[in-house]
Amino acid sequence: MRYSAWKVFWEGLTGNKGWTPQWREPEPKPEYDVIIVGGGGHGLATAYYLAKEHGITNVAVVEKGWIGGGNVGRNTTIVRSNYMLPGNEPFYELSMKLWENLEQDFNYNAMISQRGILNLSHSDPQHDAYARRGNAMQLVDAGAVLLGKEEVRKMCPFLDFDNARFPIRGGIWQPRGGTVRHDAVAWGYARGADSRGVDILQNCEVNGFILENGVCKGVETSRGTIRAKKVAVAVAGNSGKVMAKADMRLPIESHVLQAFVSEGLKPLIPGVITFGAGHFYVSQSDKGGLVFGGDIDGYNTYAQRGNLPVVEDVCEGGMALIPMIGRARLLRAWGGIMDMSMDGSPFITKTHIDGLHFNGGWCYGGFKATPASGFCYAHLLARGEPHEVATEYRLDRFRRGAMIDEKGQGAQPNLH
Ligand SMILES: Cc1cc2nc3c(=O)[nH]c(=O)nc-3n(C[C@H](O)[C@H](O)[C@H](O)COP(=O)(O)OP(=O)(O)OC[C@H]3O[C@@H](n4cnc5c(N)ncnc54)[C@H](O)[C@@H]3O)c2cc1C
Repeated sequence: MRYSAWKVFWEGLTGNKGWTPQWREPEPKPEYDVIIVGGGGHGLATAYYLAKEHGITNVAVVEKGWIGGGNVGRNTTIVRSNYMLPGNEPFYELSMKLWENLEQDFNYNAMISQRGILNLSHSDPQHDAYARRGNAMQLVDAGAVLLGKEEVRKMCPFLDFDNARFPIRGGIWQPRGGTVRHDAVAWGYARGADSRGVDILQNCEVNGFILENGVCKGVETSRGTIRAKKVAVAVAGNSGKVMAKADMRLPIESHVLQAFVSEGLKPLIPGVITFGAGHFYVSQSDKGGLVFGGDIDGYNTYAQRGNLPVVEDVCEGGMALIPMIGRARLLRAWGGIMDMSMDGSPFITKTHIDGLHFNGGWCYGGFKATPASGFCYAHLLARGEPHEVATEYRLDRFRRGAMIDEKGQGAQPNLH
C-alpha cells in the first residue's frame, strides 16, 4: 500500500477500513540466501537495502521478540554526523544523507526533524577541541558552526551561562542534526523490506548456528532450523550472547542506558542540546515532553531497566544546565542494552567463520547510524567486501592496533 495525502483523505471518508497490515507474518522457509539475526533498526535496514540496492530478496529477518522492541524503539532519537576521526566521519555523514532522503525513499513518515544539535563548551580547551572537530566535519561537508557565548545565549536564553562550576563558553552547532521518530524507522524499513519479498519472522529466537566444516550454513531457532548461504548478525545489546553460540568472544560489553521523558511543556528547546561538562542531552518531542538521557549505568547487564543513582545523576546534569527544568515532573523512564565496544566505534565485518557476518558495537550512538549501517552491511553481504566508508569497522582492528578511539576513553566502556 502506498501512503499519500489522497489515501488519508479517502480513508477518512470511508471509515478507515482500507488500511492493511504493514508487513506479512510468514512461516519460515527451510532455506534463504541471507538470514539476518535481529529485527532492530540495523537488521531491518540491512534487509531493506539488500532488496532495494542489490536485488537480493530471498532474505529472512529473524527477530526473537517484536519489531521495534529493542533499542531502535528505546533511544532518545538523536541523529547527527558530528564525528571527527577519519574512520568514522564519512560513515556518519553518509548516514545523515540517507536520513535526509529516507521518508521519500521508503514512503513512510518518520518525522525527520533537522532542528540542529548544539554541543556546549565550558572551557577554552574544550572550545578549541570543538573548533578542531568542526574543521573535520567541514572536510566532509557535514556543516558545523562554532558559536560564542552570546550567540548561544540568543539561541537558548534559558541556559545557566554563569554556573559557578560549568560556565558556558560557547558551543558547536550542526544545523542538520536533529531527531527522528524512532519506531517509525523500524516500521518503515520493515514495510519496505517486506514489500520487496523479505520475510520478517517475529517471535523467532536464534539459539545456535549450523556450523559445518568451519562454514556457517544457517541458524537453529525456536521455530526450527533455517538454512542460509549467508548469516548476518545484528543483535545490538545481545551481541556477546549470540556470538558466543559460535564460540566467539567479542571486544564488547553490555551495559544498560536509560532514557527519560518529562510531562508536556510549551515549546522550549529549539533542537538538541548537549552538556559538555557532564553527560546530559535533551530535546523536546512533538507532544512537548523533554526527552533526555545521560550516562550508562556503569555495570554489565542484560536487563532493560536501570537504577536510581543514574536517574539522580542525569537530573543533576539537567539542573546544572537548565535550572528551571527542576520544576517539571518526570513521567517515564526506561532502559536498553548497549553493545559498548572497547574504543567506542562499531563493527560491520566478516568473521573468521565463512558465511557468518557481524554488525554491532554501536554503544549509545547506533540509532543515527541505522541507515548507513544497513546500507554498508548490505554492501558487504552482497559484494563480499566492505563499503568504502566502512573499511575500518573490522573486528581485527584491536589486534592490528588500529582502534578508532572516537571517545578518547580507551578500553573502558563504563567511562564513555
Ligand atoms: C536509552 C537509549 C538512548 C539512546 N539514544 C540514542 C540517540 O539519541 N542517538 C543514537 O544514535 N543512538 C541512541 N541509542 C543507541 C541506539 O538505540 C542503538 O545503538 C541502536 O538502536 C542499536 O541497533 P538496533 O536498532 O539494530 O538494535 P535493537 O533494536 O536492539 O535490535 C536488535 C534486535 O536483536 C534482537 N535479538 C537479540 N537476540 C536475538 C536472538 N538470539 N535471536 C533473534 N533476535 C535477537 C532483539 O530482540 C532486538 O530486537 C540509544 C539507546 C538507548 C537504549
